[in-house]
Amino acid sequence: MLLRAEARGLPTFWLDIVVKRDGKLKDLDRLLRRTWVECCGHLSEFSTGTHRKVSMNTKVSEALGPGDRLGYVYDFGSSTELVVRLLGGVNAPSKSTIRLAARNEAPTWPCDACRKAATAVCPQCLYEGKGFCCATHATDHDCGEDILLPVVNSPRMGVCGYTGEA
Ligand SMILES: [Zn+2]
Ligand SMILES: [Zn+2]
Ligand SMILES: [Zn+2]
Repeated sequence: MLLRAEARGLPTFWLDIVVKRDGKLKDLDRLLRRTWVECCGHLSEFSTGTHRKVSMNTKVSEALGPGDRLGYVYDFGSSTELVVRLLGGVNAPSKSTIRLAARNEAPTWPCDACRKAATAVCPQCLYEGKGFCCATHATDHDCGEDILLPVVNSPRMGVCGYTGEA
């Protein structure tokens, strides 16, 4: 099965995932954590369109049919929310139960001060949609350089202690 995972409200960030029919949601959870969201072992959960929780032991093929949307929340404090849907079937023999097939190219974010590509982001300013710093301007950011987090290709950029793929 070919799945598309997207950040809720942020379609810039997407992953295409190939999973075997007997793959489980916990396999998908593991891949999403590894690729996109894991910072410090928060709880995560899948839910149906009607917000009913779906067990991690459910097979992906049972949880997701054509037209369905599966919600995913990582961290119930500073949540990262994703939506997963079925794109179709693929004939792709593979040893692994689940693997990443494609993903969005890393977006670039301009530094607030000089518009050069940012390398760091401030988790406090990010709430207001700003806080991007290039290497030069990171050193004189108002909130302090110590709290800055790296710019990474993930919807969890700048949240909690997220620093990218482990
Ligand atoms: Zn965390
Ligand atoms: Zn700059
Ligand atoms: Zn700041």
